[in-house]
Amino acid sequence: MPTNHGIAIIGAGLAAAKAAEALRLTHGYDGPVTLIGDEAHAPYERPALSKGYLLGTADAAGLDVHPVGFYRDQDITLLLGETATDLDLEARRLRTGTGTDLAFDQVVIATGARARRLGVPGADLPGVHYLRSRDDSDRLRAALRSAADVVIVGAGWLGSELAAAARALGRTTTVIDPLPTPLYAVLGPEIGGLFAQRHRDHGVDLRCGESVEALLGADAVEAVRTTTGDTIPADLVIVGIGAIPNTELAERAGLKTDSGILVDADLRTSCPAAFAAGDVARQRHPRHLNPVRVEHWDNAIVHGTAAAASLTGTSAAVDAVPYFFSTQYASTLEYVGHPLRWDRVITRGTPDSPGFTAFWLDGEVPVAAMTLDNWGAAEHLRALVAAARPVDADRLGDPGVPLPDLARPAA
Ligand SMILES: Cc1cc2nc3c(=O)[nH]c(=O)nc-3n(C[C@H](O)[C@H](O)[C@H](O)COP(=O)(O)OP(=O)(O)OC[C@H]3O[C@@H](n4cnc5c(N)ncnc54)[C@H](O)[C@@H]3O)c2cc1C
Repeated sequence: MPTNHGIAIIGAGLAAAKAAEALRLTHGYDGPVTLIGDEAHAPYERPALSKGYLLGTADAAGLDVHPVGFYRDQDITLLLGETATDLDLEARRLRTGTGTDLAFDQVVIATGARARRLGVPGADLPGVHYLRSRDDSDRLRAALRSAADVVIVGAGWLGSELAAAARALGRTTTVIDPLPTPLYAVLGPEIGGLFAQRHRDHGVDLRCGESVEALLGADAVEAVRTTTGDTIPADLVIVGIGAIPNTELAERAGLKTDSGILVDADLRTSCPAAFAAGDVARQRHPRHLNPVRVEHWDNAIVHGTAAAASLTGTSAAVDAVPYFFSTQYASTLEYVGHPLRWDRVITRGTPDSPGFTAFWLDGEVPVAAMTLDNWGAAEHLRALVAAARPVDADRLGDPGVPLPDLARPAA
């Protein structure tokens, strides 16, 4: 009988942990399962790293994807602090930096993404921080404790949450972004403008349409010079300018990549025995013309779970409408969709009241939606976007029309 070498999962983040969980608990897979992770920690969730965990209101145990003991109980091997450096898909073997050699029958690459680095003079000065990992968050929390003047580079999701965290700690906070509003690429000018006002209401010096030219300082960062010629004092700079998928291992193994590891709707790569999941995967998606790469917590869960289905011979066909949440200034927004274009935005409610909702439309068809402090609403918004049907704009904007009714075809 041939040896069962089992399934190797490279990366030990959320997608990896969910794949291992579903292999054992959903599909009853009883072969060897090994997670190889280059961080020292068992799989954990990242959203709190820029929110409660950073502020010290949430503890480390709350980050864990599974309780301690889960991996032992489920006979899942965790190789932590080990980087997979070589992947031979023909021989079906991988090697780690410490020389561990592992045979597998199938492999999942769930290596996630890393923070994009700032490429300006002075960017390597002490006092310049990035946030991707739990260790980054620990370092940043310590730095925030003693910082006076915080400058955040980037007003995307991460930069916006970091601004809220810095203000919650009472730090002088400046946010710099070359685009016209925070979250401009996702939300556009109308709704991005609302978030700009929120930052300003909370005392942030928000500088949109401005870029960082250089970080200045002798032994540590002391100031930020921007393209307008202004020099802003800074003893702590946090860079949040996006993430780059960790595709290098897959590229060296000969897999097709294009700003992510290319996978089909079953998450299969260009090699039939190899799958990719989570932030690193760029998926052919039934709802989109071009492959999409989604850097969301929910997508890591959907992908991890779907990868387990594919590995055990069930078609996963991931077609979920992407879902994202973010907490800023004690307010939580939820956003669904991944549109490349829209031509107008319809809102219901007032921006400062819970339940405020915005819809992005391509013609008459809602392609994305966002709601504030409105738990339970996202599933209806997701159904609405998934339906991809024309909807009367007056009904979208009318708070009297229940959200669940919007996804139903007009009578
Ligand atoms: C600070 C922060 C806040 C966030 N907040 C939100 C939020 O509020 N809402 C939301 O929807 N999403 C949020 N996200 C995004 C969400 O956390 C990610 O989409 C999710 O973590 C992706 O999971 P993943 O398993 O694909 O990758 P990751 O979580 O990145 O895990 C991949 C793991 O693989 C490791 N690895 C890489 N290469 C190798 C290798 N060669 N060998 C071994 N290990 C390797 C990495 O170090 C990492 O530990 C946030 C992300 C960050 C960083």
